[in-house]
Amino acid sequence: MNGVLYIVGLGPADERWLTLEAQHALAEAQDIVGYEPYVARVPQRDGQTRIASDNRVEIDRAREALARTQQGRIVAIVSGGDPGVFAMAAAVFEAVDNGPREWRELDIRIIPGVSAMQAAAARLGAPLGHDFCAISLSDNLKSWEVIEKRLEHAARGDFVITFYNPASRARPTRIADAFALLRRFLPGETFVGLAKSVGREKEEIILTSLEAVDPAQIDMSTLVVIGASGTRRIARANARDWVYTSRKAP
Ligand code: SAH
Repeated sequence: MNGVLYIVGLGPADERWLTLEAQHALAEAQDIVGYEPYVARVPQRDGQTRIASDNRVEIDRAREALARTQQGRIVAIVSGGDPGVFAMAAAVFEAVDNGPREWRELDIRIIPGVSAMQAAAARLGAPLGHDFCAISLSDNLKSWEVIEKRLEHAARGDFVITFYNPASRARPTRIADAFALLRRFLPGETFVGLAKSVGREKEEIILTSLEAVDPAQIDMSTLVVIGASGTRRIARANARDWVYTSRKAP
């Protein structure tokens, strides 16, 4: 039997954000591979093998999934959000690129998911309505100097900027450093939105600005949105402001 490797996006929270395509792939899979909290989100099924691992071992996890696929298994490797956005799909292709030639012929199918950026944008209004970019503040796989350079150019380019991986215990001051850098290029009143644990029980949405933002409110389950010059707030009497970015360049 020929194996299949599904690279599945689980969305940002519970199964309401799971696409039908993802549900079908997870139901078909014999093996579920992934970072432990994501594997835990997949409904249990009899006879399914679950291989949960630690966060920092993406390449080993990818190789394990590819090796099982080569043996003829139907494998699902799972990611939160979209698997192509700061997640497992790229790790799988790095493993294929550097692995045995036979891996190139495997049946690999990527199942997209709702990324945190899209879920956060939906809560705020339409902040990604004009040109935007996404930057991971994690410096596990790149130097802080690279992040600083990209932040500067994103600000100079007047992009709406989203931050993934904005905080961690290992690097508590990085997020404050990132805001300090942006303040050199952007006005203090620039919109900043903090979308925390979107879709989960502890969800919280905070609307603030570059000069007022409190880094202590940002944790690893926060998606940060920094407005561009075309980003606007619509005040409402009894509800949170809507935030949108005009489709026209100012
Ligand atoms: N592949 C994922 C991103 C993985 S990086 C995706 O497409 O969404 C992990 C980062 O995503 C977190 O540090 C956080 O910045 C963001 N994130 C993931 N789920 C989130 C949620 N429910 N609410 C807010 N941010 C979230």
